[in-house]
Amino acid sequence: MNLCDQKTVKNIMTAFGLHFRKEFGQNFLTNKLVVEDIAEMCTDTAEGTILEIGPGIGTLTRELAERHRRVLALEIDKSLIPALAYTLGDFDNVTVVNEDVMKADIAALLAPAFAEGPVSVCANLPYYITTPILMKLLESGLPFRHITIMIQKEVADRLVAKAGSGAYGAITAVLNYYGVAEKLFTVAAGQFMPPPKVDSAVVRITLHEEKPYQPKNERIFFRTIRAAFEQRRKTLPNALSAGFPELDKSVLTDIVVAAGHSADIRGERLSTAEFLTLADMIADKLAEN
Ligand code: SAM
Repeated sequence: MNLCDQKTVKNIMTAFGLHFRKEFGQNFLTNKLVVEDIAEMCTDTAEGTILEIGPGIGTLTRELAERHRRVLALEIDKSLIPALAYTLGDFDNVTVVNEDVMKADIAALLAPAFAEGPVSVCANLPYYITTPILMKLLESGLPFRHITIMIQKEVADRLVAKAGSGAYGAITAVLNYYGVAEKLFTVAAGQFMPPPKVDSAVVRITLHEEKPYQPKNERIFFRTIRAAFEQRRKTLPNALSAGFPELDKSVLTDIVVAAGHSADIRGERLSTAEFLTLADMIADKLAEN
């Protein structure tokens, strides 16, 4: 069964009374080489489980099932479940669960998989909800080996951006805290059915086994990054002052300078390690007050 063949996809959709649902970001991949590459490159071992978010009609799922020990696929759209039973019927290592990934208890769903071996995520994500899904996966604290996601190209550029570049944002600084992101390749809009309005790219995140950054207070660390980027055109002391109204602006300026920066630097120039130093100093100051 070739689920990259547009006629086959149309026939299955008709047979199961399906239509592409925009509200769920349904753009199915139709380039077999791309699907094979994603399944191949998503992690470095075939011994583990792959969590797939949004299997659609099973295009990527089949390739994952051929290459990995087990696949657990979460699909929000109930109407796709009978079609998936058909397209994945010849695999005994795939489990499909009809759940919204944002509501699912992924720790509980994956507990048996983690007991058995490494677990990675591989998904052609619905673009309307990319960042919340990525943050949920990272913040879950689950020891994923890799998270490989197909996302909008602009978002991919943001994830791998260097500090100080235009694409660098809060999500980049936060992501670096959890792991290292690399862009594997880009995919043109025409390789999907129906084609989305934007080009896409595949990003693989290798999670840190041991976090190289240990903030004194994680909440303040994230707050510091958020404050810096919420007002990214302002100088860092001004941006921090809006984000930490409980501290005087002069105190925040002193902290920025004591951390080795000029008082007119903008937050977008700071690396994750530099945000950590700053956040620890803010945490100390808040503890004094
Ligand atoms: N994996 C297929 C492919 O590559 O051709 C389909 C990818 S399509 C871009 C995104 C898929 O995610 C759709 O099947 C959609 O129904 C599903 N989806 C959207 N929101 C979801 C959510 N919150 N939880 C689980 N699946 C979701």
